[in-house]
Amino acid sequence: MVKSKKKIVILGSGFAAVECARQLESEFGKDPGIELVMIGEDNFLLFTPMLPQVASGMIETRHIVFPIRTICKKTKFYEGRIKNVDPYGKLVTIWGTRDKRSISIHYDFLVIALGSETNFFGMADVEKNAYTMKTLNDAVMLRNRVIDMLEQAENETNPILRKSFLNFVVVGGGFAGIETAGELMDLLLDARKYYPTIHKEDLKVIVLEAMGEILPGFNKKLADFAKKKLIERGIDIQLKKAVTSFDGNEVTIKTLDETPKDSIDQSEVKSIITKTLIWTAGVTPVNTIKRSMFKTEKGKIIINNFLEVPKFPGVFAIGDCALFIDPITNRPFPPTAQIAESQAKMAAKNLISLIQNSEQEKFVYHSKGQMAIIGKRSGIATFLGVNISGFVAWLIWRNVYLSKIPTFDKKTRVFLDWVIDLFFDRDISRLKLMKREAELEYKLLDEVDDVW
Ligand SMILES: Cc1cc2nc3c(=O)[nH]c(=O)nc-3n(C[C@H](O)[C@H](O)[C@H](O)COP(=O)(O)OP(=O)(O)OC[C@H]3O[C@@H](n4cnc5c(N)ncnc54)[C@H](O)[C@@H]3O)c2cc1C
Repeated sequence: MVKSKKKIVILGSGFAAVECARQLESEFGKDPGIELVMIGEDNFLLFTPMLPQVASGMIETRHIVFPIRTICKKTKFYEGRIKNVDPYGKLVTIWGTRDKRSISIHYDFLVIALGSETNFFGMADVEKNAYTMKTLNDAVMLRNRVIDMLEQAENETNPILRKSFLNFVVVGGGFAGIETAGELMDLLLDARKYYPTIHKEDLKVIVLEAMGEILPGFNKKLADFAKKKLIERGIDIQLKKAVTSFDGNEVTIKTLDETPKDSIDQSEVKSIITKTLIWTAGVTPVNTIKRSMFKTEKGKIIINNFLEVPKFPGVFAIGDCALFIDPITNRPFPPTAQIAESQAKMAAKNLISLIQNSEQEKFVYHSKGQMAIIGKRSGIATFLGVNISGFVAWLIWRNVYLSKIPTFDKKTRVFLDWVIDLFFDRDISRLKLMKREAELEYKLLDEVDDVW
């Protein structure tokens, strides 16, 4: 009797999914009894730590994406959006569209690594009007937006409107928000020389953070250093500020008071005029997970110490979409690529053990350190237990992340982009990638109209 192939299906094509596939490929790549399958909405891995540098035009868009077919060569790849996971029938269904058929794929073992999406905490107006920093499209849209705002401001005579073009508000003082703010300031200062009426003091980048500090999770000294450097570069950091609305012209903010005196909300409310609000204030798991049959908490799949989903042996959940409590802090692990990759390694190891009938291991996380860049040649890093700040931290950041880029050609391209940026100005051409909007005829109010 011919032994049937066992199918391992990995959902997602991000950090966790790719690392897990690579680990499994090295074990089962030549095993005819195992088939590896990956299903992802995008046919590439997006290297998010460099996304803000794409938004600022320092790195070319395609240099931070890695096609799955080139980095996971022994895994069969399906490009598609997952509609449903049926853990009882062991089936994954992909949405059909006008151009592609909906298909269902059977699995014997499943790894769920569907990541997260931007969380607007139910604020529909913010979701409608804000820019985000999560996908490649977000970075390209933001770059175009910034350049468009400079173009509009250059010839604008109304001072209030001009101010709203040149005020940029970043919401969220985590990794994504701080790195985006730093890069945004670099882009604005570099591009400014081509806009003669725009002066340095006209440009405002404001970071709003709901907590009392930026870069939570970092050593306090380093976070304070980052804050000081950003302020020196002209970035306004406002702490304990929560956004309550954004209509596309004005953002309203509430000051959070940690010790409300009575039940009446006496928070100070103010507003900032801006046409560009960049929302990086939180993530939430994708809808496919939220409406799945798996047990979730705050939208994340609950997993055990072996990263397996309880009640479904052979189903693992890893990365941003999984809820794993840090035994030291008793709080969920933060959503980082480092943790996603570390869990991917362990999930692959436990899957191999499961298939080979050996014992599984509990997941224990050992942080290798943390790093962030805060704009022009400055950064912060905790590396091998040592806290480093300034130029050296920036250099470490570049070296570490360059070494993490999975292919040699993209490593070279990113390196060349960085070198070119040292010697040449950034490109300020705005690429129209969206459908052209119909032009509306606006009539100026004249005396005759005034009569009515
Ligand atoms: C701007 C920015 C900067 C960051 N900087 C850092 C940093 O410096 N260091 C760090 O450690 N972390 C950083 N992070 C966080 C890091 O990117 C995430 O924690 C990491 O990507 C999580 O990996 P993941 O595999 O769980 O999810 P992801 O990498 O988000 O992958 C999820 C995958 O699932 C796919 N997917 C989702 N839904 C579906 C569906 N329905 N059907 C098919 N496919 C689907 C997505 O397309 C994606 O391929 C940063 C994040 C951002 C946004």
